[in-house]
Amino acid sequence: MPICKQCKLEKDYSEFYKHPKTKDWILHFCKECKKEYARNNRSKEQDKKRYWSNPRKRLNVIYRWMMSRCYNVNCRNYSRYWKRGIKVLWNNYKEFYDDMISSYIIHWEQNWKTKNRQTQIDRINNNWHYCKENCKRVNAKENNQHNKF
Ligand SMILES: [Zn+2]
Repeated sequence: MPICKQCKLEKDYSEFYKHPKTKDWILHFCKECKKEYARNNRSKEQDKKRYWSNPRKRLNVIYRWMMSRCYNVNCRNYSRYWKRGIKVLWNNYKEFYDDMISSYIIHWEQNWKTKNRQTQIDRINNNWHYCKENCKRVNAKENNQHNKF
């Protein structure tokens, strides 16, 4: 009897799904393990969906990323921002959120179902700080082009 590669149990052939691309024509995970695997993967997909369909969560990620760029010495981009004196002019996340959420949601609603759904925040003047007047919502593609200075 075949042994499941996942749970290592020897099981009857009927406990395996058939699979045309393996030597003995069965999948090497038993039905139970296969189902478990599918369950896990599905929840990952759902998490992703939930994440992308929640602009509030995204804004929080963007805030932390922005703070890290400007204030975390271990950040890959730190020297690019800190050396040039780029600061975050919001005092805390709440101020940032209040200023940005409405326009962020507008941009996100227009873009999240397209391939460029990664709404990001970019500075209009690259040499000026992160603040309401200097930030616009762009999608990831636009942002990459803009950052080539
Ligand atoms: Zn198994």
